[in-house]
Amino acid sequence: MGKDTGFLEFEKEIPPLRPVEERVRDFQEYDTFLSEKKLQRQASRCMDCGVPFCHMGCPLGNMIPDWNDLVYRGQWKDALTSLHSTNNFPEFTGRICPAPCEDDCVLNEHYTLDAEEKQQKVNVVTIEEIEKHIAERGWTEGWIKPLPPEKLTDKRIAIVGSGPAGLAAAQQLRRVGHVVTVFEKDDKIGGLLVYGIPDFKLEKNIVSRRVEQLRAEGVEFWTGVNVGEYYSVKELRSSFDAILLATGAQHARKLLVEGSDLEGVHYAMHYLPQRNREVAGDSIPEKERIESGSKKAVILGGGFTAADCLGNLNRQGADPHIYQFELVDMVPRPTPVHKEANPDCRANILTESIIGDGAGRVKALSGVSVEWKMGANENSASGRLTMQRIPGSEFTVPADLVFLALGFLGPKVEGLLEELGVELNVLGGEKTYTAVQVKKMLENTQPMFDIYSDENFMTSKDGVFVAGDANRGASLVVWAIWEGREAALSIDKYLMGTTSLPTTPQAEVLV
Ligand SMILES: Cc1cc2nc3c(=O)[nH]c(=O)nc-3n(C[C@H](O)[C@H](O)[C@H](O)COP(=O)(O)OP(=O)(O)OC[C@H]3O[C@@H](n4cnc5c(N)ncnc54)[C@H](O)[C@@H]3O)c2cc1C
Ligand code: SF4
Repeated sequence: MGKDTGFLEFEKEIPPLRPVEERVRDFQEYDTFLSEKKLQRQASRCMDCGVPFCHMGCPLGNMIPDWNDLVYRGQWKDALTSLHSTNNFPEFTGRICPAPCEDDCVLNEHYTLDAEEKQQKVNVVTIEEIEKHIAERGWTEGWIKPLPPEKLTDKRIAIVGSGPAGLAAAQQLRRVGHVVTVFEKDDKIGGLLVYGIPDFKLEKNIVSRRVEQLRAEGVEFWTGVNVGEYYSVKELRSSFDAILLATGAQHARKLLVEGSDLEGVHYAMHYLPQRNREVAGDSIPEKERIESGSKKAVILGGGFTAADCLGNLNRQGADPHIYQFELVDMVPRPTPVHKEANPDCRANILTESIIGDGAGRVKALSGVSVEWKMGANENSASGRLTMQRIPGSEFTVPADLVFLALGFLGPKVEGLLEELGVELNVLGGEKTYTAVQVKKMLENTQPMFDIYSDENFMTSKDGVFVAGDANRGASLVVWAIWEGREAALSIDKYLMGTTSLPTTPQAEVLV
């Protein structure tokens, strides 16, 4: 594998990001590419470690040492074939996967000096980068072509939702000859790849060229169709032999403090799709448009969604002193957008209230520092983390805009799930619940929930399957692709009694 001494001869090298002053003026991807020679050198650092922990760390079970070796030897087409055998969309994961494989790279485990270097992956094989290059080489060389099925079956499958889970399932099921229809309530195909993740992380032509490949393979797409509303569940059930729910988990957690209904307080997922639409050239009605130019902004939350708000604010010319507050004991992980401005990122901050200007608009946010202790509160059982305010640490910061990126509770329950009657899991609950019961719970509390499924991705209703964030809660693109692939296998087996679709069993162990 690779070059025997590659990891000793060559340092880790990643391509530089585009310069900050340049990239904040547009919405194009901030990544650049290494030269082919340099990339082959990076692939040669893969060290034949015997047990490929990277491969096990990848939810898709990507055969990383194999394609590293092929890239090192210049066999790019074979590398692409190997990569596609486990991953339908390596150009997505090669750009936006947090790369758990790299955490597990033996070079990271054993050839680094301290925990911080390990966390920053200073010495790892640049797996994600290599993955992206293999996929891009495939597109530029014209090796990625539609692969329509040779034989067709008479089985009809409806996939509700066109995010990475729905798309991966659609491609797998079409390639074994089924009639596959994807329903999407938005006007474009791609789910959060299109209307969540910003262009500076993933340009949308990268998504649309894949969608075109699926279309050419025979997958049928219906956009602007909210199943359960404009297309009835009765029709869905009678027209298809199997249904896959790949509807995502976009029920956002609310901020339950005084002032959260003031003008200027927005859910991140109202802001981000709007930005992506504008970048795509769509116009947003003036009264809906969230304008941030030179305004003071506070972002609540520490995940991807919060960072994506930050990147958009940097590009829209917001006041560069943006606050980002996270409730838990974890400073938001620095991303490239954190280096573009001067954000004030703090962990252990509880928002106490949002203060208005007397005319209904937000003016400031008041918070307090908290600490998390084990069983410190007399009302809590010991062994549970409890939050305590730190007296005297109260503060107020000015704000014209507050963005809520507080995470997601589960799929939208209204409509489709209610009508289908599938059961739901509530985090910490001992039984399953109906959508109506969960809707009731949501009136008073904020439980996290997902759609119940058995080990074959089947919901409580025969012939109705689930995959992606709707099945596992808000997660990652790589997991959504894996879920889509595995659910496709179960659907094929359910319809045909047997299946030739591949599985990635080691990922099941990691679920
Ligand atoms: C802002 C943001 C940034 C992120 N960044 C990253 C990242 O950098 N890296 C990463 O790995 N992950 C990231 N994620 C997470 C990742 O996007 C999700 O885990 C992934 O998209 C889930 O895929 P999915 O197919 O399950 O659902 P989704 O992508 O959510 O797609 C579900 C689709 O179903 C449609 N739908 C729902 N109900 C219906 C209905 N009744 N009828 C018709 N259509 C319906 C929705 O409109 C949507 O298009 C991010 C998430 C967000 C919100
Ligand atoms: S999909 Fe993610 S975890 Fe898997 S090899 Fe690519 S970057 Fe690593």
